[in-house]
Amino acid sequence: MNYSELKNILEGKGLKVTPQRIAVLEALYELKNHPSADEVRKIVQEKYPNIALGTLYNILDTLCEHNIIRKVKTENDFMRYDIEMDKHHHIYCDECDYIENYYDGELDKMLVDYFNRKGIPNFNIKEINLQIVGSYKDHVKPNKND
Ligand SMILES: [Zn+2]
Repeated sequence: MNYSELKNILEGKGLKVTPQRIAVLEALYELKNHPSADEVRKIVQEKYPNIALGTLYNILDTLCEHNIIRKVKTENDFMRYDIEMDKHHHIYCDECDYIENYYDGELDKMLVDYFNRKGIPNFNIKEINLQIVGSYKDHVKPNKND
C-alpha cells in the first residue's frame, strides 16, 4: 500500500487525511493478521513517537465507524482489528492466539437460509460472523500473509 492508495481509502470514506491516520492505516496493512491496538501502536510510534494512546484509539474507532476496518473480539476479550472487509469468519486458536480468516460460501448460504427461514424473534440480523475456537493439531500456523 503506497501513500496515495492509503489516502484514497480515507478520502473514499469522506475522512480527512492526516499523517497519523495514514500511519495507523499503513501499520494495519503491514501487520495484516488481526493486530491488537498495541501492535499497531508499536509500528506507528516508529514514525510518531509522541502519538498519544487516546489519539491512536480514536483513529482506530474512526476507521471502524467508517467500515475501513472492523473489531474482532477474541476469547480472552482482547480487541483486535481486521482490515479484511470481505465476508469471512474466523478460526481462533486458543493456544497460540492466532486468528485465521475462514472463507466458506456454502456455510454463508446455509446460515442465511437458516435464519431467513427461522428468524430470531424481535431481532433484525445484519450479519453473521462465526468465531470457530479450537487449536491447530500440529500447531504449525498457516501462511501468515492472509
Ligand atoms: Zn479476519
